[in-house]
Amino acid sequence: MYAEVAVNASAPLRQTFTYRIPEGLNLEPGHAVYVPWGNRTLQGIVVDVTESPAFADARDLEDIIDEQPLISPDRVALATWMSDHYLAPLFDCISLLLPAGFKRRPLTYVRRAFWAEGETGDLSDPETELLRLISDAGEIEVDALKRRAGTGSARALTSLIRRGMVARTYKLARPTVSAKVVTNVRLTHPGTAGKLANEHRASGSKRGLKIATLIDALLEAESLTLAEARRAGLTPSLRRELEHVVSVSDETVLRDPLAGRSYPPRGMALLTTDQQAAVDEIASSLETGSHSTFLLHGVTGSGKTEVYLAALDHALTLGKRAIVLVPEIALTPQTIRRFAERFPGRVAVLHSDLSPGEQHDVWYEIRNGKYDAVIGPRGALFAPMPDLGLVIIDEEHEWTYKQQDASPRYHARRASEELCKLTGSVLVLGSATPDVESNFAARHSSRKLLSLPSRLIKTGTGMRPAPLPQVEVVDLRDELKSGNRSIFSRALSQGIESCLAAHEQVSRFINRRGTASFLQCRDCGFTPDCKSCAVALTYHEPESRMVCHYCNRRYAVPTTCPECSGPRLRQLGLGTERVEEEVRSRFPQARTVRWDRDTTKGRGLHEAILARFLAHDADILIGTQMVAKGLDIPAVTLVGVVSADIALHLPDIRSGERTFQLLEQVAGRAGRGERGGKVIIQTYTPDHYAIQAASKHDYQSLYEAEIGFRQKLGYPPFGRLAPLTFAPAGRDQAHQESARVTQFLRAEVDRLGIPNLDILGPAPALIPRIRGRWRWNVLVRGADPGALLRDVTLPRGWSIDVDPISIV
Ligand SMILES: [Zn+2]
Ligand SMILES: [Zn+2]
Repeated sequence: MYAEVAVNASAPLRQTFTYRIPEGLNLEPGHAVYVPWGNRTLQGIVVDVTESPAFADARDLEDIIDEQPLISPDRVALATWMSDHYLAPLFDCISLLLPAGFKRRPLTYVRRAFWAEGETGDLSDPETELLRLISDAGEIEVDALKRRAGTGSARALTSLIRRGMVARTYKLARPTVSAKVVTNVRLTHPGTAGKLANEHRASGSKRGLKIATLIDALLEAESLTLAEARRAGLTPSLRRELEHVVSVSDETVLRDPLAGRSYPPRGMALLTTDQQAAVDEIASSLETGSHSTFLLHGVTGSGKTEVYLAALDHALTLGKRAIVLVPEIALTPQTIRRFAERFPGRVAVLHSDLSPGEQHDVWYEIRNGKYDAVIGPRGALFAPMPDLGLVIIDEEHEWTYKQQDASPRYHARRASEELCKLTGSVLVLGSATPDVESNFAARHSSRKLLSLPSRLIKTGTGMRPAPLPQVEVVDLRDELKSGNRSIFSRALSQGIESCLAAHEQVSRFINRRGTASFLQCRDCGFTPDCKSCAVALTYHEPESRMVCHYCNRRYAVPTTCPECSGPRLRQLGLGTERVEEEVRSRFPQARTVRWDRDTTKGRGLHEAILARFLAHDADILIGTQMVAKGLDIPAVTLVGVVSADIALHLPDIRSGERTFQLLEQVAGRAGRGERGGKVIIQTYTPDHYAIQAASKHDYQSLYEAEIGFRQKLGYPPFGRLAPLTFAPAGRDQAHQESARVTQFLRAEVDRLGIPNLDILGPAPALIPRIRGRWRWNVLVRGADPGALLRDVTLPRGWSIDVDPISIV
């Protein structure tokens, strides 16, 4: 028998390698194994077991790491699908499924080889010195040796190895994380021990008193660690003497991130008619045991979480378990609380802010079936949850579900759908502002649309329907005309003042993603677009040109506005710090907190800032996107959006959709309490369809505008995109190499006769330089970019992002 193995090699490879399975070893997909690799041993995961080898000269697989398969076959299939769909190395995809600390670094050791004494005569000084170091150490890891011997030792080492004086061996680094084991000492027969202690105390001997003290300590504590027991007087001889009443054993301690937190249990809420209808649909799907996907479109505050909880409750009665995804780690505490109150002790949390030890333990506990649901950001999708029946993605439109900065560049929503197909599970996508593509799929495919059209607010006794907050759009062009150059319009200033006077809370939101600079007319709000790609042009300061970063078309900067002939075409951009400064000088009496990535770097800071605001320890909350996402702060009556334009003019096809989503989510923060709420949006382009739709909470009109525009240009969901990015250190190399690859790809499209596929670019990336590397993009747009890219091997330094959520 032969095994196809994905190997944890340093070179990322998309394919598997064939090994012969030694007699007596029973392997199946998902087993973790050791395999030979050159002259070293590496770790791998069995992907397939076959009777005939895919490769004739297969070597013997070395050993199995664990008797039990580490990953279930359906998860192995998921990794294979991801590797194929996202054109990513297979082991990168499998890595997502592995427990923390599993991957071990291959290390090279050297030791002195046997040699005749006289042969060392002609060694150079560095070689002699190095040989002495190696001899003294016995066996030493190469990197440690080089650190000790200093620069220049690499050459001496190579020479010693070549002359056969030093031999190499290969090992894997020790695991960085493993189960935490504590040695516990406890009494096996407390009654007998108690009597024994009394007898010894009565004897009055020194040794007798020692024994009595030790037993008393054990009686009091029930169990002591070995160190504590030693301090209480335990010695090896006492341990032998008390063998019949004292046990010493190694026990695994669970590192539980939720330890010490208690959630008072809460019963099921009474559902509204709409909620109940949604739950019924999901429940009947769960009962069929086959895959289906639901899009739960519920306006902000419509009680989507109650639907999730009831769906999970139903899944549990069927003996199934669930995975619940939230957009950000910052939001997990709130969600955990809602789920843990309803299902005490049955909910796990899994995310990268946990210590490696906690991640390791939670992973194994989930696999062993200790929990019924796991909650976390996108990576929690890969938790080894057995009996999976339900996957819930809250705020499914959020961009954080896409992994952008590392391979595989997967989207958790798409990957969930695949996992649910493989496991026969039900997928529930929830949002107040569904992704345009999700909504399209719900209308034109087998997905089912569920809706919660009315907002509910808490009253003293229960919930009652309430209107969505009123939205006022302030035209910043008018402010400028009337001489107001502050970042606050008159309406927003007055709003904040009256809130402060009434002791109500204000949350204000600015979008700082605006790293690209674009030009906007201060008189009419006009922003220049690329004529062929319909994305905002990026202003390049040094050459004073406007550039389309999709297709690289360049435009001269007009001296006057093409729309209104006004003279003020300017750059825009605002940061949270600047807004905070202005708020402090303008409203010195208000207590202000800032919530963005810079102020929430440490563990637990998210919770601390939120708690402070919830306790009304601050009057004004200033923040970026995070403020917008799902936080329920009842006392907020006014939300101000300082500038809607930065999001609107990001050079991206989804900027309109994105702006609408942000504004709706931000508006959703206002008026959750009984006092109602108001939203003020400041903009230079009040007539833009995304702003108009947001001001009326009109998702449908936004959706129709977006779909029309995308169909015209062949953008998703009508076509697919795959940007290739090249980021070398040299500026000229970046440009020349991307031009060469673009030509090559165009020729391949012709040669293979692939229909409906365009190659756009090359163009400098939106962020043209990151960490000293010049970035260029080539954009593949069409029905199936994989038809071209699956068989193309790109040179080193290129990365592919299949189905990107933005092109940067
Ligand atoms: Zn203008
Ligand atoms: Zn263009």
